[in-house]
Amino acid sequence: MSDRYAVIGNPIGFSKSPLIHGTFANMTGQDLVYEAIEGPLNGFGERVDQFRTDGAKGLNITAPFKLDAFDYANELSESAERAGAVNCLKFVGDRIIGENFDGIGLVRDITVNLGVKMAGRRVLMLGAGGAARGALLPFLRQEPSELVLVNRTLSKAVALAEEFAGCGPLIVSGYAELADLAEGYDVVVNATSASLRGEMPPLPGNVFRGAELAYELAYGKGLTPFLQAARGEGVAKLADGVGMLVEQAAEAFAWWRGLRPSTAQLIAELTVPLS
Ligand code: NDP
Repeated sequence: MSDRYAVIGNPIGFSKSPLIHGTFANMTGQDLVYEAIEGPLNGFGERVDQFRTDGAKGLNITAPFKLDAFDYANELSESAERAGAVNCLKFVGDRIIGENFDGIGLVRDITVNLGVKMAGRRVLMLGAGGAARGALLPFLRQEPSELVLVNRTLSKAVALAEEFAGCGPLIVSGYAELADLAEGYDVVVNATSASLRGEMPPLPGNVFRGAELAYELAYGKGLTPFLQAARGEGVAKLADGVGMLVEQAAEAFAWWRGLRPSTAQLIAELTVPLS
């Protein structure tokens, strides 16, 4: 019988994970089935118990269940622990191992696929929600000269900076103060959910000046207000989060199956043109 995997979320109809993992399985000749599960909002644990009883080997987790998955795991990787959330589970006997590949997927997309170095560069990250939190340690491990974290609710960014104190040069700012800090950023990353509603974080215009890359974590939205502003300020490289999505999936696949599929063609196929 084929090994079973799935993605769980609510809603789940939009998920590209079955397509991505199905493609990876075909590319690598792995015998597995991968399905999408709409998890009940108050019954994550019971639904995953059932999936494990049915012989599941692993699970991807999307909104709103990443914190439930964190609680469900009985072992956590350092990335999951630091992110405070789990986006991938592996089931080995009684072991329920929680991982979080979102941050590493984002870093891989920036540094490998887009060829933008973060080491020694100035990086600005907008947002202090789950995605930003998961990206902090992988970003700091790239050894930027400075990582500036800005959030609408400043207290959330301050709390994150306290938690990650000692991990690298992390500085917190509100949006209003950002204009004074803006000596020029090499990489500007939008890890807010503003673009999902067609909104623009309240950025001063000068933050994009001289930037090499503007990266939008939301994907499939085309030219969001954030990317449009970056283009207007002359940023040459613009990207959305489709590469991050595929790269975190490739990390999960490698963790489960022991081999890493190539990602370039799939990213190209899933990319919605930024125009
Ligand atoms: P959360 O809900 O955890 O956090 C949302 C963040 O956005 C908060 O910091 C919030 O600020 C901020 N925010 C929302 N609206 C605005 C606004 N109008 N102006 C300024 N800040 C705003 O979301 P996630 O961290 O889970 O997701 C963030 C983004 O990342 C989403 O677009 C999501 O789709 C994307 N994502 C992409 C992935 C991929 O694989 N490409 C994976 C995971 C997420 P405040 O704290 O003040 O409310």
